[in-house]
Formats: sequence, structure tokens, C-alpha cells
Amino acid sequence: MDEANVRQKARAFIAKVDVSNIQEDLSPYVTAANAKVKKDELGEGESGYTITKPNGKHIITVNSLETNERQRFTICHEIAHIVLGLESSHEEVPSWSYAKRHPNEIACDTFAAELLMPYQLWLSAVPREEPSLELLQHMADLFGASFPAAASRFASLSDMPCAFVTMERGAVRYAARSTSLRQVGAWISPRSVIPTGSVAHRLRSSGTSTTETREVSQDLWFDNWEKGLDLWELSRHYARVDTTISLLWFDSEDLPEVEVNRFGARIEDDGGLPELTGELPWPGRNRRR
Ligand SMILES: [Zn+2]
Repeated sequence: MDEANVRQKARAFIAKVDVSNIQEDLSPYVTAANAKVKKDELGEGESGYTITKPNGKHIITVNSLETNERQRFTICHEIAHIVLGLESSHEEVPSWSYAKRHPNEIACDTFAAELLMPYQLWLSAVPREEPSLELLQHMADLFGASFPAAASRFASLSDMPCAFVTMERGAVRYAARSTSLRQVGAWISPRSVIPTGSVAHRLRSSGTSTTETREVSQDLWFDNWEKGLDLWELSRHYARVDTTISLLWFDSEDLPEVEVNRFGARIEDDGGLPELTGELPWPGRNRRR
């Protein structure tokens, strides 16, 4: 199940639910999944789990010691396990770690983000202006989501060339890109190190949890990229978990004029080129069934 497939399934699930008050109350989702939510004090790092009763009813238990936004995410994540029929493997790594997470868990996180921030509600609520710390925090608060989740959503649904990069222990783990950025073939290598000269690099080197926005050179971030153009980078570092996030964006006028594919080659108009999804390939994506 690839990422597009997961998003499609989430949107199909949402279409059957009244989401008008979903920012306040997730119960329409819970009901649609034939589930019930129980709150309990679980161990540190344990966000939640689901038990299915013989009558088919699912009991989702969430850790009442975690923040409200975290509990909301957990409920949506558990609903994903139910709706997608994917087994959970929560034991292996802490939930904040993208690096070694099981593909099922990443799929359920993607599904959960769709549920927490339904794209139609998001698009009608998002201010049509340049991103800023305030704007992203406003959107996170509005949808009861974490700052990184809101920043990632902003990038993937933005109509400006925009990307969201997650870095752990100094290495790029994941990049989400807006449609317009994907269309020009902007590519950020997964597993590459945080580029020297970027805001992310400086914040991480400082070792403190802080946020900063600054202009940097575009070719710092994108492979095989034209030199001499700048972009904005809003970066936040979380020292405790050694995780850094960056939102990157630029004016359309600052896009290089040559269209390239993600390998840096010019796109020939032969009509036969597969659509560049721009998403990082997931483990097992190319495996034939
Ligand atoms: Zn899970």
C-alpha cells in the first residue's frame, strides 16, 4: 500500500463522516470505525493500542498522560489500523522516530494526518499568505495537531513551491513537497546529511530547542539545482529528541526556468514519462504481489 493509496483510503473514509466539528471532537470517526475510546494511564512512550472484542467492536485505549494533541493523533492512528486492517508493531521504536518505523506504522501516521487535518477543511481555513511561525502554530492549534504535523500538511497542500523536511540525528528522513515543487523536479535525497549553511544545520549545531527563519541558497537543499537563487527556510530544532524540521518555500518567480526530472535531467515532452509523484519510495513499494 503506497502513500497515495493510503491518502485515498483516508479521504474515502472521511467522505462518509460529518467532519464539521472534527477539530473539537473525533467521535464521528470513532463511531464510523465501530470503535470506542478509553483513556488510561499507560507507560512512558506508550501512546495507545486497540483491542477487538468478539462482537467486532474495537476498544482504543489512549495514554491520558500524553498531551491532548498527542491523544488525538493516537486515536486517528489507531483508527487507521482498524480501517486499513494493518497490524501494529508499536514496540520496536518510539513513535517520534521516523527512521526505523515499520511501513504499517508510517502508513497509519499518514492516514491519521488526513483525519486530523481533513484537506477540504484545511484549504478553507489556511490563510493565503507566506508561511510563518505564527501561521503554522495557528493551524496546529486550530486542528489540535502538533507543529510538525501542521507544517508537513502546509507543505503538501500548499499551492506555492514548498517542502517540509524532517531530520533526525543530523540526517534527512523524510521530505514532503507541494505539487508545484514536485512538478519542477525538486528532489531532496533521503538519508543525506543536513546541508551545511542551512538554518536547520545551524540550529542543530547550537544544540538548543529554538526556531528561526532565514533566506538560504536553493541549491543547498535540492539536488542538481541551479545556483544563485534563494529560498526561505523556517526551521525548528527539538534538542531532546535530536529532531529538526524545516519548511522551505520560494516565490514562483524564483523557480529555475528549466524543467528537470528528479534525477536532474531535462524533461523531454515525449508524453511517455511517468508522473513524478515526488514522494519518497516506501519500503516494499515496488514489490509485486
Ligand atoms: Zn500503530
